[in-house]
Amino acid sequence: AKKNSKGSYEIYNDQYGMSIERRFQMLSELKLSIYNKELVCYYQPQYDYDKKAVVGFESLARWNSKKFGMVPPLQFIELAEETGFIKQLGRFMINQAFAFAKSISDPGICVSFNASPIELMQADFTDYVIERFCYYELEPESVAIEITESCLIESFDDVVKKLKILTDCGISIYLDDFGTGFSSLSYLKELPIHAVKIDKSFIDNIVSDRVRRDIVDMIIRLAHRLNLKVIAEGVETKEQAQCISECGCNLIQGYYISKPVPGEEAIAFLDELKTG
Ligand code: C2E
Ligand code: CA
Ligand code: CA
Ligand code: CA
Repeated sequence: AKKNSKGSYEIYNDQYGMSIERRFQMLSELKLSIYNKELVCYYQPQYDYDKKAVVGFESLARWNSKKFGMVPPLQFIELAEETGFIKQLGRFMINQAFAFAKSISDPGICVSFNASPIELMQADFTDYVIERFCYYELEPESVAIEITESCLIESFDDVVKKLKILTDCGISIYLDDFGTGFSSLSYLKELPIHAVKIDKSFIDNIVSDRVRRDIVDMIIRLAHRLNLKVIAEGVETKEQAQCISECGCNLIQGYYISKPVPGEEAIAFLDELKTG
């Protein structure tokens, strides 16, 4: 408990220092966010720096609450995870991402969505994803799931089994935030994944920090040797993009290319690149 500005005590119980009361209010708003059309899906391009072409989009949830304003995703995702609302939120995002993937006429573009460990643990997760994949009549390799290493702690074999079912259906798997977790490089070859996403924290000081650059260079080489694609996340400058490219990684995602944007803007971005 912590004394607040009004001199009374509030109980804090998460990293954002939200009081129980605020969390409760936020949760009741969050539960209505889909119905109230406050929850929307943004898309951030994934870009081939050598070919100068968009190869994919990552779907990212945005909550513009009437009551709380723009709420940071990490904040409402955590709230959703702790309260079970993540299932509905996740399903909403899957439908948005799949409909968006369907609306893109260009072949070879893959739309990814994030799945939290809690979603992956649900018994009906794979059935749902596959049912939706069929419903939207999507091409193989046109959608991907981004999972984090924390998904693997609970039951490695069980998760691998689920991922295999998804890949058998033509859905790609990306390992997100790579390098930040418990990162045993040795399990990489056991996983049915198509790409690793190098976390932004590795990209941040890649230009100035020689040791960082060597680590990133090594990760990229290893991943490529295991036949995995590598996407560098959080690339903000031309210098970072060039540095990453010199390390052998041509796939980048970050503000240098584009911030996450609404669907129509993402499509416009795609069309603009094509017409030059
Ligand atoms: P993430 O999956 O690692 O997503 C990448 C985050 O980096 C996004 O933050 C994106 O906006 C941000 N980003 C991308 N490029 C740059 C850059 O150049 N500079 C900077 N400073 N940031 C960049 P965002 O959208 O705030 O999402 C934060 C996290 O919330 C995501 O991290 C993901 O873990 C979670 N999240 C977002 N949407 C969903 C969702 O639909 N489902 C689940 N389960 N998690 C989600
Ligand atoms: Ca992600
Ligand atoms: Ca990430
Ligand atoms: Ca992250």
